[in-house]
Amino acid sequence: MSSSELPPSEVLQHVVDVHCHPTDAPSILPESMEKLDITICAMSSKPSDQPLVYNLAKSHPRKVIPCFGYHPWFSHLVCLRGDVSKEDHYRDLFCTSSAEDLEDLEAFNTLLTSLPLPIPLDNLLVDLRRNLEEFPHAMLGEVGLDRAFRIPYDYNASARKLSPFTVPIQHQITILQAQMDLAVELGRNISLHSVKAHQPTMELLANMETKHGVDRWNKISLDLHSCGFKPEMLKDIQRRYANAFLSLSTVINGRSPNHLSLLKVCDPLRILVESDYNDVDMCTEQTWGMIRTTADVKGWTIETEWNENESDSSKWGVVRRLEENWLRFKAGHHSAKKK
Ligand SMILES: [Zn+2]
Repeated sequence: MSSSELPPSEVLQHVVDVHCHPTDAPSILPESMEKLDITICAMSSKPSDQPLVYNLAKSHPRKVIPCFGYHPWFSHLVCLRGDVSKEDHYRDLFCTSSAEDLEDLEAFNTLLTSLPLPIPLDNLLVDLRRNLEEFPHAMLGEVGLDRAFRIPYDYNASARKLSPFTVPIQHQITILQAQMDLAVELGRNISLHSVKAHQPTMELLANMETKHGVDRWNKISLDLHSCGFKPEMLKDIQRRYANAFLSLSTVINGRSPNHLSLLKVCDPLRILVESDYNDVDMCTEQTWGMIRTTADVKGWTIETEWNENESDSSKWGVVRRLEENWLRFKAGHHSAKKK
């Protein structure tokens, strides 16, 4: 098989792309969904795409696992109190220094005109709960923490111009924690984004475990999506948390050799794969690229046909192993690790 060649449909049917954003594309052709062999976990990230993911999952219940949640890049759109004005909300968030910088003030006023009315966190949680309850297998995602991004003046512009503003990490944590509390309450798995936020992420996981108790925390699974952690950090997380899985993408992780080291140290029973792509026509190929890399690093064979009856797990190829990992992820109820 050449690197670009895909296996037959009987193999692809066992592949799960655990993280992609098909509703971010301008449109999804019915033919694209028709010919899709794999299962996709379709993420939402902002107010406008929650109903898009909902509709996609309703139309394609066998191929799409809906994921609802609010990404840190859009966390500034959420206010913690219902009685705050638009200007006060964004000013409190972005203008933290008491000495007002004139340039920043101009930037703030420009940005303010393009920003919508903020959504109270309580309203967002009502909506999130309704969506999650509508699909018993829906996940929370994409949610997370990000200390690298800046707010663009116009998110929808083709060339995004960035403002000098970032969202304070404490605000991001508050919104993430509220969403994760709901996931634990409803027993839902989580697709987590963490960029330049290793320390607060570790603190958050520890808080979640303490707050909800080890048993309830281990009922759900946590996927570290397009994880950019150092291998030592991943080892540490998997040592501490029996429910922590890793999924890598060619488009994000493929840029750095770090992903090979991550795969090397990752518990072989807790590897998943993803595309992180918007174009659903590309999800299969992109996910397959990471499947090949995984097989390479772990020394697993790659299936060219499907043999469901092979019971000897040492003979399983990469697709079968990843499918079993996915089933373990999906089922949750992990037994707690000794620390
Ligand atoms: Zn994503």
